[in-house]
Amino acid sequence: MKRTWHILVGVLLIVTAAHAEFRAGIAVRAVTPDPLLPVSGGVGPSRAVDKKLGDLTVRALVLADAQTKVAFVSADFLGFPSVLGNKVRALVKGIPGENILIGATHTHSAPDCYGFPNGKGGTDADLKYLDSVCQRMAEAINEALAKAQPASLKIATGEAKGKIAFNAYADRLYDPRCSVIQAVGADGKPFATLVNYAVHPEVLGSGQGVCSPDLIGPLYDHLAAKGAGTGIFMNGAQGGMVTADNRGPDGKDLRTWAECERIGRLLGDEALRIVEKAPEQKSPRLICEARTISFPVDSQTLRAVMAASPLGLGTKDTARVSTQLNLVNVGNAQILTIPGEALPNIGYYLKRNMRGEHNLLFGLTNDAFGYILTRVDWGSFKRYDYVSRTCLGEKTGEILIEEALRFVAESPAPEKLK
Ligand SMILES: [Zn+2]
Repeated sequence: MKRTWHILVGVLLIVTAAHAEFRAGIAVRAVTPDPLLPVSGGVGPSRAVDKKLGDLTVRALVLADAQTKVAFVSADFLGFPSVLGNKVRALVKGIPGENILIGATHTHSAPDCYGFPNGKGGTDADLKYLDSVCQRMAEAINEALAKAQPASLKIATGEAKGKIAFNAYADRLYDPRCSVIQAVGADGKPFATLVNYAVHPEVLGSGQGVCSPDLIGPLYDHLAAKGAGTGIFMNGAQGGMVTADNRGPDGKDLRTWAECERIGRLLGDEALRIVEKAPEQKSPRLICEARTISFPVDSQTLRAVMAASPLGLGTKDTARVSTQLNLVNVGNAQILTIPGEALPNIGYYLKRNMRGEHNLLFGLTNDAFGYILTRVDWGSFKRYDYVSRTCLGEKTGEILIEEALRFVAESPAPEKLK
């Protein structure tokens, strides 16, 4: 009898230790430039601003167990190229660089992180400012790791309902699914909520003289106000052209801060509704893998951007670019990164072939190489002229799909709850 007790106590201790091993932490830094800088909504010169609405932030959610540490990072910019991401990775000691996933929210009202040509033989990017952003992003990751606390996760996927997004090229061709990963502390209260949803935060855009996180700022404020802790938004497959539905009664975009607030709050409420009843995963298994893939650069537009940038984007001859792809299993969810703006049909196909009970795509993550189209879409509809021109080339979509699904097939599957 006594012996059985010892074994039982031993088993309980092991189980408790396993539970206590999983930790999560989140940290934020504000990166609104002071004084304000011009903002970029795409290739070309930046536009002057004279005010801000909300603050630009960089955020890091760190997940850790005894073996693995992973950081999900989100930044309020149009894109965050790996040349900057690698500076950040070099400043983080506690997490391997390949386990740091850096995504951009894709706000169209923040300073240029690429060094786009400004048409006057230079660029409007402010390299000193970008250095300070890298510093603060690394600080956020280091702080999130340092304060990681024992946590369980609630993970859920559902349709985000209401007037949030639509496809500006063809109304209903978008993915309304929203996935949520919420970290719950030992006190039973959530302290971090990750929202994964595909949308262009371009309600305000770059033409109104405003620096802003767009609808993502009000999303974060609302999550915090509702007791969901610190929010972090990771975009999805929002290319060609899934955008924020801020259409007024006449069908034209309203482009107001009130619409940013309405959409941000609605997305926040929907995310919390979706995750509310999810079971708590006490010691979710955590795996993070990385591999490098490369794409030919056929687009003249993107070649010119890479060649002109003072940041050193791409390779010297700009004929090919390589980038980091990540696959993360956490609990019953699987996450795959996309280094750009995949069209929603690619998103559906990848999610359908992934192996989690929840499949998340982190778009614009680790790099943002423009739009990602399959070859049957590339150069097709007149409507696709712009996204074809700003796609690396005709093969981009197929290369991504093939490499991503091989990665999925060659990696372990996440655990199952059902
Ligand atoms: Zn875009």
